[in-house]
Parts: sequence; C-alpha cells; structure tokens
Amino acid sequence: MAILPINEKLLSIVGPSGLTNDVLALESHNRDWRGRYQGDAAWVVKPATTHEVMDVVRACFEAGISIVPQGGNTSQCGASVPGTGWGSIILNLSRMNRIRTIDWDNDTLTCEAGVTLATVQETARQGNRLFPVSIASEGTAEIGGVISTNAGGTAVLRYGNMRSQVLGLEVVLPDGQLWNGMRMLRKDNTGYDLKQWFIGAEGTLGIVTAAVLRLYPLPRSRATAWVAVDSPAQAVSLLSHLKSCVGDRTSGFELMSRSALQMVLTHITGTHDPLGNSSPWYVLVELEDASPDAGLDALLETALDQVLQQQLISDAVISRSESQSAALWALREQVSEAQKREGISIKHDISVPVSRIPVFVEDASQKLERAYPGIRVVCFGHVGDGNLHYNLSMPDKVKNPSFIEVTPQVNRIVHDVVHQLDGSISAEHGIGQLKVDELVRYKSPIELELMKTLKKALDPKNLMNPGKIFRPGNI
Ligand SMILES: Cc1cc2nc3c(=O)[nH]c(=O)nc-3n(C[C@H](O)[C@H](O)[C@H](O)COP(=O)(O)OP(=O)(O)OC[C@H]3O[C@@H](n4cnc5c(N)ncnc54)[C@H](O)[C@@H]3O)c2cc1C
Repeated sequence: MAILPINEKLLSIVGPSGLTNDVLALESHNRDWRGRYQGDAAWVVKPATTHEVMDVVRACFEAGISIVPQGGNTSQCGASVPGTGWGSIILNLSRMNRIRTIDWDNDTLTCEAGVTLATVQETARQGNRLFPVSIASEGTAEIGGVISTNAGGTAVLRYGNMRSQVLGLEVVLPDGQLWNGMRMLRKDNTGYDLKQWFIGAEGTLGIVTAAVLRLYPLPRSRATAWVAVDSPAQAVSLLSHLKSCVGDRTSGFELMSRSALQMVLTHITGTHDPLGNSSPWYVLVELEDASPDAGLDALLETALDQVLQQQLISDAVISRSESQSAALWALREQVSEAQKREGISIKHDISVPVSRIPVFVEDASQKLERAYPGIRVVCFGHVGDGNLHYNLSMPDKVKNPSFIEVTPQVNRIVHDVVHQLDGSISAEHGIGQLKVDELVRYKSPIELELMKTLKKALDPKNLMNPGKIFRPGNI
C-alpha cells in the first residue's frame, strides 16, 4: 500500500481550508510576537474539530513528525513557534472557536481551544458573569494557549491564575487518543488530577482542544486609583493596609516604575501622566464588589487618606468615571507595547514572596548598576502575586546591541537574586525556548527528573513541541 506524503495525508484530514504553506502565512506563524524566534515549519495545519485534531496527531505520530501547538502566538518566550531543524508542523487551533455550552446555574462556560480570551470574557459578561483572567493580549490569546501557559495577568490577586479557572479539559494525547476530562465539578477527589498535567505544559504533553471554565458574579462597582509611592517597600505596605481596610475587594494592585510610565507616555499616543509630580514608583489599585452600592470610592479614599497621613504614599488620584479608569489601566496595559517600540531589552518575568519584593528590587538593581553602570531598569508587574516584569536596557540605544550580548551574565545576576529569595525565574510567561538553560540551572535535579518521567510517559517519541521546557537532547 502506498504511503501518502504527510502534506497529502494532512490535506485528506483537514481539507484545503485547513492546510497552508503560503509564504506569508508561514512567515506569521513561524515568527514569535517579539520577533526573536524564527521557526522553519513548512506546513501550518488548522483543524476545525477535535476529530480532525486526533487524526492529524495520529498521522504525525505514525510518521514521526513533531507538532508545535499554536493559539494566538502571543508567547513571550518563543514557546509557540518551532525551533529549527526539527521538521515540525504547526498545529494552529484558531478555527476551533466555538462556545459549546454555558451553564449559568453551575457558573461554567465550555468552549473550544481557539476561542479568544476576550470572547470568553464578553460571553460571560452577557450573562452577568465575570471570567476573571485578564491580560493585555486577550484579544488575540486563545483559551488553549492561555491554559497551556497557565496565564496570570492583573486579577490573580483576587481570583487566581488560569489554573484556578479550569474545571475540565479535553486533550488529544501525543499518539492521537482523546482524553475526555470535561468535568464541570468543583469537587472531585478520584485519584490524580490529570488536567493539572496539561495546564502550563506549553503544549509539550498534548493538545488541549476544549475546556470547562469557571465563572464568577460580575462586579457591579469598581474604584480605581493611581498612587505615587517612593519605593516598592511602600507599595507592599500599602497592599497590607488595603487588605486590612477593604478585605478581599482589592482585585488589582500593579506596580510601575517611573521608567515604565515614561516609556508609555513617550510611545503611546493619547496617554497622560495622571499626577503632576514625578515619583520613582506608582501603584494602580483597583477595588471591586458584586454590590452596586458598595461605596468603593469612599472606602478607597478613606484608606488612601490614612496612608497619605502616615506618609506611606506621596500622592494619589481616584478615577471618577469609567473612562478615567480605562485611561489609568491603559497606562499599565500599554507597557509591553511601549517596550516593544522602545527597542530590544533583556526581559525577566520573576516572582518572589510578596514580602521579599523590596529586597529583590534593591538587591538586583544595586548588583546590576555595579556591573553595568547607567543601566536602565523598567520594572512593572503584579505586586499582589509577587510577580515582577524586570526589563533591562541601556538608555543610550547605540550601546544596546552590545548590552544584549551579555544577556547570560545579566540573567545570572537577576536569577541568582531570585533564587536566593526562594523565587521563580518564570512567574507567568513560561520556559519556551528562552529559558531552557535557566530551568536546568535552578530546578532541583529530582524535580527535573520527575518532569522528564512525565514527559517520556506521555510523549515517548518527543513529538510534542520539542525543544521547549526541556533542552534539546536533554530528555
Ligand atoms: C502584549 C502582551 C501582554 C501579555 N501579558 C501577559 C500577562 O499579563 N500575563 C501572562 O501570563 N501572559 C501575558 N502575555 C503572554 C501571552 O499572551 C500568554 O502566554 C497567553 O496565554 C498565550 O496565549 P496564546 O493563545 O497566544 O498562546 P500561544 O502563544 O500560541 O502558545 C503559548 C504556548 O501554549 C501552547 N499552546 C497553544 N495552544 C495550545 C493548545 N490548544 N494545546 C496545547 N498547547 C497549546 C504553545 O505550544 C505554546 O507553548 C502577554 C503577551 C503579550 C503579547
């Protein structure tokens, strides 16, 4: 019996609208969002159903062809594009974009992997519910990708990250079998919780094709403030103060260095500095409540007045309308875009216990300044989760290319400080291709062995997103 070449086999499964090797399409699917990685896949497959995914994966398994699962391709660590020399195909889930069911009484939404995060949020909102995961790429990022990266974002403080939102999963395993774990339960202690294997696995263990997601009551009132503080230590104290004044109503607590704000003001049109006086650090605070009459503005004002008198903060402004609130959030959400326009930088996505954030910022900044005088630190992130984005460059753009060449040495300084503080070198973006070497350095040997054991058990041929999480040749 003649064996079909893989492209003909794939064509017979997904049809002409599900397979392309068009040059422009290949270019956009092979290149990552940051423009840092260029893959060499010759085919992009776009199945429209779970059955098509199963058939594609089985065909690749039999032919020994590796697969890079892809959603919105917004990965920050080169996880969603192939490396070179693997002969991988890209399996893009964007055509699987149906909401399957919504159970309002059970507060669950069931959808396919290619539904964008923004569509899930909007669908939930139409039924007066909240889907709380919120990231600046939500218009493009898709549920399969958001699950596979265990995305965080700005509301983790109150609702948890993506892992906390997933009740059930449907996964095509590396040999093409289907695992139907589409449970809608909040309690289920029947042995190992298999869905956790695939959440945050960066597509290295299987293809997520659908999920059951948790919904929450839609907040009916919201208060937003922009607060100037002298230091990250003051920001952490402010967070503690707010917890004691407003309980768990704090849903957002975002730190930004002046350098981060300045970059947004420079590159993003229509943005304005909310406070006249320049401050070294700012915090964007948001409170929310399910009741429309929660009096959040007054609560926030009282809480901020108290800390102003204690000189824990230096200034603050509370938004008086939805549009003012949106303008404050835009300052935070546009940092990644502004950073992209500013030019290349050495990025870090770290977490430490919240109480150790001040030590991290001080220690890392001092060590970096000693090693690279004049270095510019652009620091922003989710203080409530201990997660900071810590981006480094030289203010003089001419010096930047040579500075980028010392990335390994810079990483060593930053990640060693993180490690000493019992932190993580990747809080929310993942490992991808970017941090494979760093992972080997900082994970304990036994943890790495356990991870490899799982990988080998599920994907013995190493066909699922090879070269990601694990160093090539290291499994
Ligand atoms: C401007 C901007 C802001 C961002 N802000 C945040 C933020 O605040 N917090 C945060 O956590 N991230 C953030 N990100 C990173 C990124 O958006 C998230 O990681 C997002 O979850 C990725 O979703 P995606 O659909 O684009 O996945 P992709 O980038 O396509 O893929 C990401 C990973 O998931 C795998 N994958 C994709 N789909 C599947 C599937 N169906 N089954 C199995 N594996 C799959 C891929 O192989 C890859 O390993 C940001 C990115 C940008 C560009």
